[in-house]
Amino acid sequence: MRKIIIAIDGPAGSGKTTSAKLLAEKLNYIYIDTGAMYRAVTFAWIESKLEMSDEVLQNIINNSKIELKPSPQGQITLLNGVDVSKEIRSDIVNRTVSPISANEFVRRHLVELQRILGQGKCCVMDGRDIGTTVFPDAELKIYLTASIGARAKRRLIEYQEKGISNLSFNEIADQIIGRDRYDSNRTISPLRKAADAVEIDTSDMTLVQQVDTIYQLAIKAINE
Ligand code: C5P
Repeated sequence: MRKIIIAIDGPAGSGKTTSAKLLAEKLNYIYIDTGAMYRAVTFAWIESKLEMSDEVLQNIINNSKIELKPSPQGQITLLNGVDVSKEIRSDIVNRTVSPISANEFVRRHLVELQRILGQGKCCVMDGRDIGTTVFPDAELKIYLTASIGARAKRRLIEYQEKGISNLSFNEIADQIIGRDRYDSNRTISPLRKAADAVEIDTSDMTLVQQVDTIYQLAIKAINE
């Protein structure tokens, strides 16, 4: 059995994070949520109350220790030792994460960190550029998509369940469309399907079906 890296990319709300978490559990692989890392930097910037600039972001990156730790819930995100797992899912982070993620210095630093965390391990990593930039040689690449309606509905349920935000379905849909547009059009490693990724449309799939579909592909890739 080979140790492989499974890269799962796709737009906001396509089911990446939940599927990746459950898949990693089923395979006994480590799970790395790269979106949480960009969110943690964004949260640090919000807390700084400073204008967004290259200099400010560099300073934040140089002074922030971001850690992802396994927990019964899947993973917790620590920023300088403090658990910010809930804070990084807030509306304000959702609204500001894309411009911060497009910053060259932020990307360079986090991509390097992600490579260190995943290299040589049995790992499921999800994000926007894992199959194209972070691990272009990943043994299995999945690109998840779903209709905007399905994605906004999932986020609405998640927000209501976790008490994260009071946004309406339409507001969530607008936010997702805006974030996708920004993530797809930035200059450095934009959201793209890698040429050799398997595309899965999850609009009409249950979570169990999503995980099972990827699991079958993973078992095949591990045994190759
Ligand atoms: O996956 P999630 O929605 O938590 O990601 C939050 C944001 O982080 C994305 O909208 C994107 O701007 C950024 N991101 C990224 N590259 C990744 C993962 C996330 O630019 N690999």
